[in-house]
Amino acid sequence: MPMSLHTLLVEVSPSYPIQVGPGLLCRSDLITPHLAGNTSAIVTNTTVAPLYLDRLAHMLTAEGQRVIPILLPDGESYKTRDSFNHIHDVLLEHRADRKTTVIALGGGVVGDLAGYAAATYLRGVSLIQVPTTLLSQVDSSVGGKTGINHPLGKNMIGAFHQPRLVLADTTTLDTLPQREFLAGLAEVIKYALIRDLPFLEWLEIHLDALLQRDPEILAQAILTSCRNKSTLVAADPLEQTGLRALLNLGHTFGHAIETGLGYGNWLHGEAVAVGSLLAADLSERLGWLHSKDLQRMTTLFERTGLPTLAPNLGVQRYLDLMAGDKKAEAGSLRFVLLKSLGQACLTSVTRQDLLEAVLTPGQG
Ligand code: NAD
Ligand code: MG
Repeated sequence: MPMSLHTLLVEVSPSYPIQVGPGLLCRSDLITPHLAGNTSAIVTNTTVAPLYLDRLAHMLTAEGQRVIPILLPDGESYKTRDSFNHIHDVLLEHRADRKTTVIALGGGVVGDLAGYAAATYLRGVSLIQVPTTLLSQVDSSVGGKTGINHPLGKNMIGAFHQPRLVLADTTTLDTLPQREFLAGLAEVIKYALIRDLPFLEWLEIHLDALLQRDPEILAQAILTSCRNKSTLVAADPLEQTGLRALLNLGHTFGHAIETGLGYGNWLHGEAVAVGSLLAADLSERLGWLHSKDLQRMTTLFERTGLPTLAPNLGVQRYLDLMAGDKKAEAGSLRFVLLKSLGQACLTSVTRQDLLEAVLTPGQG
């Protein structure tokens, strides 16, 4: 038994475990109790399949599972209805029944697509998330949001469908490109900023080891991130109370940056890093966040190597893009801001405050 297996329970109904540790793809004892029947459909993509599909498929076959591999092209641009249909096509061709377990093996794109396909196939079959990017291990695999993009908007079509198990094998992160790793790290830091000051202090101490991908430090960071996300998810499973919305720190500015630069130029996590700094800057202007705390946060992001300066899109373009963000409600712009480090809140922001935030000298 590997020494460092960590387990966390997500307290939704029914509850499910998140397992974090090295070498978990080979751990039949962790997966088999959560399989619904004797057919497993592994949804993955052409980048992840050569790396990890065999390992997972062999383990399942040895357990007597009929394994149906479903390969998708790699990329956010394939998070579409076509890919979603393809998953259903393959399941139907193989006469996969209600007791089929859909297993998502890959990053957030695969997880969202496979999850939505599982939510809708035969009106819903079991789902296991096996996230292989840092972002998917700390964020997208937990919480039950699944979906695809529509030509008129990202993640506009989907369903809530909780997995039965999240298996975060930290060994898979060995092959993750550095830029993708840092993008995931931005979401890790986000949890600390919105609700976990001790985690922020921990990150400051362990950042270098984390950047070296030290397995135990990595597992701790993933676990703490998942604990924070699952607490919010359990309190607000369907995103109705506003609590879960705190997870969107930096995302309104971030989406503006992603859209303004054209999707794919900046990774989501990179935009979230800068977006979080812009939100902190705005929080400081409103007199909430001390300037020393803004500086502390900036230093942490600078140490990661993530971008910290907002691209110069022009103020009007920022405002237009943010007004079009789906988190904008009835005329007023709703933002997640920081009352202090480790304490976020959802609030309305005036146009003037925003104008000043995006006009900050040095951030253009
Ligand atoms: P991604 O799925 O595109 O993965 C990033 C890249 O890494 C891809 O090229 C992928 O093939 C590759 N990859 C994956 N695992 C690898 C590995 N172990 N080694 C080498 N390469 C590997 O991107 P992502 O950042 O994981 O996820 C982003 C997606 O997640 C977006 O579509 C976003 O909307 C979604 N998301 C969903 C939620 C949710 O709650 N459902 C939350 C956040 C993000
Ligand atoms: Mg995000």
